[in-house]
Amino acid sequence: MVLCFCGKVDVVKTSWTPLNLGRRFFACPMNDSVRGFIGWLDPPMCARSKAIIPGLLRNLNSVQERCNELVRGMNMLQDQCNGLICKNNILVANVRALKDDNLKLKMYMFGSWFFFVIVFFYIWFV
Ligand SMILES: [Zn+2]
Repeated sequence: MVLCFCGKVDVVKTSWTPLNLGRRFFACPMNDSVRGFIGWLDPPMCARSKAIIPGLLRNLNSVQERCNELVRGMNMLQDQCNGLICKNNILVANVRALKDDNLKLKMYMFGSWFFFVIVFFYIWFV
């Protein structure tokens, strides 16, 4: 624990500048990271780390951005799928209503033919 010049207990932050990428430092909790700098927590990085870490960070950011794009695309597909499911449910209800109407029409047709045959035989034979 380190005390700041203002008397507050410090906070540990991480530097994202190219020279000190990923290096942690003590900072004043009342100021931003530039003006609140108190001192380094981690030792300086070697030259090899300074060369490799920015490339790894760029790759990580591009992979993260691609992942975000895929999630957005997946959400759009999910919305389209939900819309299609809703339309399908409406069509299923319409087909069910048409089947009911079809059955009623068949019953009316059978009844009318049955009535016609009875009237015909009644007139013909009576
Ligand atoms: Zn301070």
